[in-house]
Amino acid sequence: MARRGPHFYGNRRCEPVARVPCHADSNHALGCYTNAAFMTPRYCEVALPVPLRSTFTYAVPATLNGETLIGRRLIVPFRNRPMIGVGLAESDRAPDVSHKSHIREIAELMDPLPALSPKLVELGQWISRYYLAPIGESLRAMLPPEIEIRHDREYSLTDAGLVYLQDLSANGENTDVESAEREFLSRFDRERSASSTSVNRWPGGETVAEVLARRGYLKAREIVRHRKARMQKIVAWNPANAESTGSAAEAKLRTILAATRGPLPLTMLAEKAGVSRSVILQLAKKRHLLTWEEPVTPDEDTWDTDFTAPANVLNAEQNAALGEIWRWFLTGEFATGLLYGVTGSGKTEVYLGAIEAAISRGKTAIVLVPEIALTLWVGRLVRARFGKGVAVLHSGLPDIERAREWWRVRRGEAQVIVGTRSAVFAPIENLGLIIVDEEQESSYKQEETPRYNGRDTAVYRAYLEGAVALLGSATPSLETYRNVHAKKYRLLTLASRVENRPLAEVRIVDLREEFRRQHRAAPVSEALRTAIALRLEEKTQAMVLINRRGYSWSLLCRGCGALVQCQNCSIALTYHKSRQRLECHYCGYSIRPPKQCPMCRGEHMYFVGDGAERVEEYLREQFVKARIARLDRDTVRTKHEYQQVLGAFASGEIDVLVGTQMVAKGHDFQRVTLVGVVAADLALSRPDFRAAEHTFQLLTQVAGRAGRGELSGEVLVETYYPEHYAIQYAARQDYLSFYEKEAHFRRVLHYPPFAALATVLVRHSKVENAIRWSRALGSYFAPFEKQGVKILGPAAAPLARLRREYRFQFVLKSPHRSALAQALGGCLDFCASKEIPDTAVVIDIDPTSLS
Ligand code: ADP
Ligand code: ZN
Repeated sequence: MARRGPHFYGNRRCEPVARVPCHADSNHALGCYTNAAFMTPRYCEVALPVPLRSTFTYAVPATLNGETLIGRRLIVPFRNRPMIGVGLAESDRAPDVSHKSHIREIAELMDPLPALSPKLVELGQWISRYYLAPIGESLRAMLPPEIEIRHDREYSLTDAGLVYLQDLSANGENTDVESAEREFLSRFDRERSASSTSVNRWPGGETVAEVLARRGYLKAREIVRHRKARMQKIVAWNPANAESTGSAAEAKLRTILAATRGPLPLTMLAEKAGVSRSVILQLAKKRHLLTWEEPVTPDEDTWDTDFTAPANVLNAEQNAALGEIWRWFLTGEFATGLLYGVTGSGKTEVYLGAIEAAISRGKTAIVLVPEIALTLWVGRLVRARFGKGVAVLHSGLPDIERAREWWRVRRGEAQVIVGTRSAVFAPIENLGLIIVDEEQESSYKQEETPRYNGRDTAVYRAYLEGAVALLGSATPSLETYRNVHAKKYRLLTLASRVENRPLAEVRIVDLREEFRRQHRAAPVSEALRTAIALRLEEKTQAMVLINRRGYSWSLLCRGCGALVQCQNCSIALTYHKSRQRLECHYCGYSIRPPKQCPMCRGEHMYFVGDGAERVEEYLREQFVKARIARLDRDTVRTKHEYQQVLGAFASGEIDVLVGTQMVAKGHDFQRVTLVGVVAADLALSRPDFRAAEHTFQLLTQVAGRAGRGELSGEVLVETYYPEHYAIQYAARQDYLSFYEKEAHFRRVLHYPPFAALATVLVRHSKVENAIRWSRALGSYFAPFEKQGVKILGPAAAPLARLRREYRFQFVLKSPHRSALAQALGGCLDFCASKEIPDTAVVIDIDPTSLS
């Protein structure tokens, strides 16, 4: 039964038994036990966050009788350490008689209620199957951050350690090292053990402890500790002591405590009253004040309280779309709709109306947005409309805050969730609606295990829960629009901008022409420079998109033609002038720019290709008086900084905003009359079947940022390929023609959405291994050609080396998803049989790109 014997898991004596697959549909899954069951031993299948595809069987201790374990977070011993897993199925049959005596027990239940509802457990199992991800890792992606416990090590003296200590003590002539060890070991006596926190305070600390443990004198054990809530001192007036000291400090404290009508945390009181802590504590000692301890509650979230949402009266198109959505709710069945609306057509209002429809039917809703910054933007609108029952979930929140929101949702205190990709797993019940805004965005695809697509997962979740999935976009992905054609998705269209504002005028700047005329290449074209000058004069705003970070793309040796490359990756390093570094955007490797070529020692080194940093500098040189800011991952690192820059731009404190694609999305600035796109065709040169689609989407999105207010807008697109259809159709903002043309190519070349696609990457730090394993896999895949799976590769991956690993890639395509699934299904077992490590093989189902 087990495809891998227990020997696979190392230490055989006390290992849990692995079972493949897990039986979540077992009859005992619901934990309904009678008294008779009290005597029979019970077992539970547990999914653990380890890169193994099996689940693990544990015995259920009698203390947990009557508890539901499915979907529950459990602490169990795994190898030498405790680990948090999720209960998947219960049974009273021992899994495998020969191992029965070694089955270990569940140590603890973590939460009073199951973290995952049965529907979410089912969704996790689907993720695991569809994306070929280990079940434990799939479920972990759905759980809240583990803030309640921390891992710790505990050391105790072994018999050998005791003998060694006695030897050292008997021998009068210890070396320095030996005396230190004697000193260290003598802190243990036979019974007492010490945790790493206390060991860390001893001379030598945990390093010495680890050395002694390796030599067998100490035994180390992993433990989990429940984190205590952080406490704070609370101060209140003592009503029993009416006597006054007459001091000024006391008067101030009285005023503050009276004004706030209640006890205050010590630090806050001290700050508000401008009185030192020690003075307050003195007064407490004299019993004029009372103090006690309370757990620190994290700060309440900082929603702008003065925000008022625009009161828009829906137009005919919006009303028609919404009417349709109401009808879907009336049937009470699963449905997927595409809200296809040009930029500025007011899709957000339709989302809000759809949420209202869900809530009015007693249901809940999830709104997914493609990036963290938009959770604030959209969250604010939703909060203004639906009040306190709105929760925000995204990975940018500190763990404590995220866990708090997560549990608030789990307890049913929220009706609407706004969040990024992982919010598709929000533990909300009674789900009626999932909205996926900008459904085409590749940020919905997780690029680590489990490699799920949040949009597709949203549709599947809606299906499981009998809910409505509403995908919104001005530039729908080919997959989604194809599903409309195939009548799987229903189409809602907003064809014009609100108040019939015209779409911005798009002008293509032919850079070849420009060069012929100017005989030099400036970071932005003369046409764009003039257009910006005009905006500065008429005091409106401009945005400049340049989809490359840094100052120069690379450093080139004119002598030998080599680009300065990363030591760990096959990629040219990017020059960042402000930091005076050449940096790798993949692994973070960085060096000072060399004066000489590392290859040929030549001295003619040139920076080539202008990035956002250079464009900003150039504009500052050209427009000395203008207020210019840059928005990219180098200038804003936190959500707060991001908000600050965008806020300043929105309120007109900035004239020109230069940025990477961060500026392209979603935002609604009223005074932007010019959008310039520098090097618009950058993406077109990528060896990727989605290159044209991504270019079209980016250009259309960014063009949609112009002319959203009363003022009309203009867009300048700089390119070397003005005749490319992606650029031509984007300039006309003609999605349907683009779709037709692109769909034609995809059909002919057998790419999605007309074929199912997957990549298999084989990677290893030793190139021989990477080659050997990819050859082996090649022969494994070969027979599937006959079943209609086209296999390309193994070939060097587009990024042939990354973080010191060599990478080879297969691309698998098939018109039939089931054939593809079959080829991939056995692939990991094949790898196991050939002792190819799991970590060396990365399977990506429905990848967003091939490079
Ligand atoms: P989209 O997401 O489709 O690009 P938004 O939802 O951001 O467009 O709406 C664009 C702008 O139009 C917003 O400022 C919004 O407040 C405004 N708006 C939406 N609906 C209406 C309406 N019916 N009448 C007037 N303004 C509207
Ligand atoms: Zn690198």
